[in-house]
Amino acid sequence: MTVVRHYTNLSQNNFGVDNGFYPLGSCTMKYNPKINEEMAALPVFQNLHPLQPAHTVEGARAAIAYLERSLCKLTGLAHFTFKPYAGAHGELTGLMIIDNYHRSKGDLQRKKVIVPDSAHGTNPASAAVCGLEIVEVKSTSNGLVDLSDLERLVSEEGPNIAAMMMTNPNTLGLFECQIPEIAKLIHDCGGLMYYDGANLNPMLGVCRPGDMGFDVMHINLHKTFSTPHGGGGPGSGPVGVREGLQEFFPVVSPYHGNFAVMLRALAYIITLGRDHVKEVGPLATLNANYIKESLKDVYELPIEGLCCHEFVFDGLKDKSTGVTTMDVAKRLLDYGYHAPTIYFPLLFHESLMIEPTENESRDTIDGFIAVMRKIAEEAKNDPELVKSAPHNTPIGRVDDVLAAKHPIVTYRQMLEE
Ligand SMILES: *Cc1c(COP(=O)(O)O)cnc(C)c1O
Repeated sequence: MTVVRHYTNLSQNNFGVDNGFYPLGSCTMKYNPKINEEMAALPVFQNLHPLQPAHTVEGARAAIAYLERSLCKLTGLAHFTFKPYAGAHGELTGLMIIDNYHRSKGDLQRKKVIVPDSAHGTNPASAAVCGLEIVEVKSTSNGLVDLSDLERLVSEEGPNIAAMMMTNPNTLGLFECQIPEIAKLIHDCGGLMYYDGANLNPMLGVCRPGDMGFDVMHINLHKTFSTPHGGGGPGSGPVGVREGLQEFFPVVSPYHGNFAVMLRALAYIITLGRDHVKEVGPLATLNANYIKESLKDVYELPIEGLCCHEFVFDGLKDKSTGVTTMDVAKRLLDYGYHAPTIYFPLLFHESLMIEPTENESRDTIDGFIAVMRKIAEEAKNDPELVKSAPHNTPIGRVDDVLAAKHPIVTYRQMLEE
């Protein structure tokens, strides 16, 4: 009994998309339809063994082929490998494909990867793990890739450029409208274009990376195609390529990848269907712009204009209160909301990055806006209240550094301390 109560109580301290709004930017946390779970749990799939003879698993192979065809249609690319277990693993796989391609042509010196300064941290990390060298390209004050800085890099490094990695819409939620020019610059000097499609929501059925000039991309099935993925898993980061590049697929994991995540993605795609998949992008975009416009008089919006599925504030507008983005995030917990992404991207000092996703209701979003406005009000009238938040959670402010360097994760140790 004690053990059951202990774990039941612990589970109720947990926060997830099923019990509250989770506006985490750059990491799409959306409703994960329960039918996906049922499909992935069907005994015909769950009882498969990876070493079964191929002719006994034709249905599973057909499901993978169906998912591959769907992703090809949605992205405009020709082939996918499902081996990578996460987005970062997909990036590494994609860069290995690019590296293999250049080697096959004897271009051994092509080791530089251009990455915008707004990129997700996994981009430069994956390039480094692949043994490539990162070259950063600047953003302009309107948040897009600085074309003149890119031209300079291309003229200096042309023959050494392996690829350029891009996220579009980028990490500021802005649509990079110069992709054709950028792709031409990179292709003309012999490099390939890599697309970080971790969060593909705003693009689904609206436009396709393959049509924009990208050669290689990954998708996070666990973000865009709805698999619950708190705490680092499970994931699937399939990599798609333009015709001809599939011969360079490396072996990065055994068997067929994370099959259960693939089944959830397939269930999601089939549930939406060809017509409804087109509604995802416009709705995600509408929700984000609605929140942005409703809060920009009290939160600092560094870049005006239309965003896609997410956007970034640079803290509260009134800086005189001393209330930081960290304080706002902690205070949101008191009101029952998960915090947005904070202090990322690194382009601003007080980044507060919000992604509402397409399946949040008007009521939920209005509730969030009201609380964000209330916190701005509190910051003005009673800044200490916000600075000392959270007040209603089982644990107050943790020492982030200590928690990371010395995690205490067992019950026994908690009792001893
Ligand atoms: C989440 C994310 C990644 C990394 O994906 P993981 O599955 O966490 O490895 C890469 N790029 C972007 C833009 C992301 O949001």
